[in-house]
Amino acid sequence: MSKEGGCYCGAIRYRTDAEPAVKAQCHCRECQYFAGGSSNLTQGIPEADFSYTKGTPKQFTRSDLDNPVTRDFCGECGTQLVSWSPALPGMALIKIGTLDDPSSFGGAQIAIFTTEKQRFHHIPADVETYDTLPAS
Ligand SMILES: [Zn+2]
Repeated sequence: MSKEGGCYCGAIRYRTDAEPAVKAQCHCRECQYFAGGSSNLTQGIPEADFSYTKGTPKQFTRSDLDNPVTRDFCGECGTQLVSWSPALPGMALIKIGTLDDPSSFGGAQIAIFTTEKQRFHHIPADVETYDTLPAS
């Protein structure tokens, strides 16, 4: 199934051709920076089924963390588009708000890094929770 998305200003566009392998809400402190203080909604698509179709995102990786994620973002409008995590190699972790149709997400299956969750974060009752990441 094809899905498209992009950044707020339209400089960066992407396309996916696969169903998500994972749908998650991440409560880690780092994601809170990019999600307005809330958890970050994301879906994982195998890298082979993901491609940028317009523009080239900038990337940022923190040097002061162990196993930091690399975050793709638009250099014009600053929208966070995709994260690449060493914990999930080969998986494009797409920010749900950048999909043309965010409603297609449906909802998270798992909530991760709940040890860093804020009291005002909400986790639906039917979502599996993990202190950090599910054991692989
Ligand atoms: Zn942009």
